[in-house]
Amino acid sequence: MQIFYTVKEIQNYLSQHATKSVGFVATMGALHQAHISLIDISKEENELTICSIFVNPKQFNKKEDLEKYPRNTPADLEKLKTGGCDVVFIPSVTEMYPQKVEKNFDFGTLSEVMEAEHRPGHFNGVAIVIERFFEILKPTRAYFGEKDYQQLAVIKALAKQINSPTKIVGCPIFREENGLAMSSRNERLSSVEKEQASIISKALKYVCEHKHKSVSELKSHFLKEMSEHKNFDPEYFEIADELTLEPIINWGHADKYIAFTAVNVSGVRLIDNMTIIN
Ligand code: AMP
Repeated sequence: MQIFYTVKEIQNYLSQHATKSVGFVATMGALHQAHISLIDISKEENELTICSIFVNPKQFNKKEDLEKYPRNTPADLEKLKTGGCDVVFIPSVTEMYPQKVEKNFDFGTLSEVMEAEHRPGHFNGVAIVIERFFEILKPTRAYFGEKDYQQLAVIKALAKQINSPTKIVGCPIFREENGLAMSSRNERLSSVEKEQASIISKALKYVCEHKHKSVSELKSHFLKEMSEHKNFDPEYFEIADELTLEPIINWGHADKYIAFTAVNVSGVRLIDNMTIIN
């Protein structure tokens, strides 16, 4: 497994493998099985797989969240090696942003609802870092998890806006046995809290299985479930259109909707979503 820290080094390496298809998995480290599942998919579809580890300061709207973000590069490298990743790119902040970047992307509704509303500037920061990675690596395909479904939609919109030749591939949500969506942030929960946090996915499942109820009834049910734990603080629960991600008030005739939520569990912000087949 090759490890590079600078743009120059990795571009030099890639120029020696110019004929190969390149799969790219962007991560912020603190890797777990879900990240490795993205690497697995990339390995199946490409001759070379690159994983980046970069905690992008531009996508954190709270300084404290950035500071508390778990970091463990030696353990990450071990996991990537075992997972058969070909190349790891670990740039510094100055390597990624040698000059001041001031860009304001507009992704319409995607820039306004749910995560965008609760984390102002977050998706602009995500778009800035992904555009920069695409510029450096020029991957054939890039893999993003459906756990961050709105992010995936934003990146698809970004690729269109910048006319990127990179194909954006969505990958299924990887869960713990109890249903909790895997996340680097789960590291900050105790085992009791992780068990409690599994009620988020259980409540989402309930929503998917009770679509004969009204949207507002399901919303109330979900929020009531969350309020049963004192250490739970839900930020939002929405059922949204699969394509526009516009939250709905009443069921329509689309084939699919998606239930989205963000819940703080003991101060750790967790997000999850589940598809509702109409
Ligand atoms: P992160 O390191 O949290 O920025 O995540 C890196 C990539 O892994 C993103 O594309 C995430 O959507 C994806 N990812 C993280 N957790 C999961 C999960 N539980 N299932 C699927 N993809 C995930």
